[in-house]
Amino acid sequence: MNETEDGVIRGNIKSFREAVINAVYPPACPVCGKPAPYVSGVRLDICEECRNRLVYINEDRCLKCGKQLSETESEYCYDCHRAEHVFEQGAAVFAYSEGIKQSVYRYKYKGCREYAAWYSRQIKERCGLLIDEWAPQVIIPVPLHADRLRIRGYNQAELMVEELGKLTGIRTDSNLLARAKKTKPMKLLDEQERIKNLEKAFIVRGNVVKYKKVLLVDDIYTTGATADACAGVLKECGAESVFCLSLCIGRGIG
Ligand SMILES: [Zn+2]
Ligand SMILES: [Zn+2]
Repeated sequence: MNETEDGVIRGNIKSFREAVINAVYPPACPVCGKPAPYVSGVRLDICEECRNRLVYINEDRCLKCGKQLSETESEYCYDCHRAEHVFEQGAAVFAYSEGIKQSVYRYKYKGCREYAAWYSRQIKERCGLLIDEWAPQVIIPVPLHADRLRIRGYNQAELMVEELGKLTGIRTDSNLLARAKKTKPMKLLDEQERIKNLEKAFIVRGNVVKYKKVLLVDDIYTTGATADACAGVLKECGAESVFCLSLCIGRGIG
């Protein structure tokens, strides 16, 4: 058998195996969780109607955090007008609304870790130009506390970072930052409590960041308190600029 024939057979075996796996465990739509539909013989990533339910962030967004601006806001969102951020700039793919909300819930709490690939493709597609502009030397996830990691079995932001690293070719480092303090769920706290909750919450392992430009990734951004706490400690340890990307972005309090 020559090399080409061997390659073709291997390729056929691989696609046959994939077809069998797909038939037994069909890839699910990351929004409704049902098997993703076939259209003209091609498996879609997401159902048409589910895609239509999602609210993408488009052009008119906050120059600082990336939130969609309302009609009364210009350049900066209400939240960024009131608070100065430690990170340089942020962006997100979706407004945190129905559809993506349920998806992220299953991703974090129901073990649907396979959604990470689609999430990261969305980030690359929608924010790829910004990533090029920022030119980070490393992509890192917002870390989970070790106890929560043990319970969940994975860090949802880390899975996205791994996928984004493969898509962009940028180095990733999931061990650079650690969560040293068990923090309360942010959604239960007001703005001041959020900041207090995050004091000394993060540490840089080894106390040195050898990268000047760092890209931080998380699943949801709201007030930016988490991104700021991470950026603060990264900068104390040597980073010069910190950018942040999240899958969804929601309005802060107030
Ligand atoms: Zn669907
Ligand atoms: Zn903003």
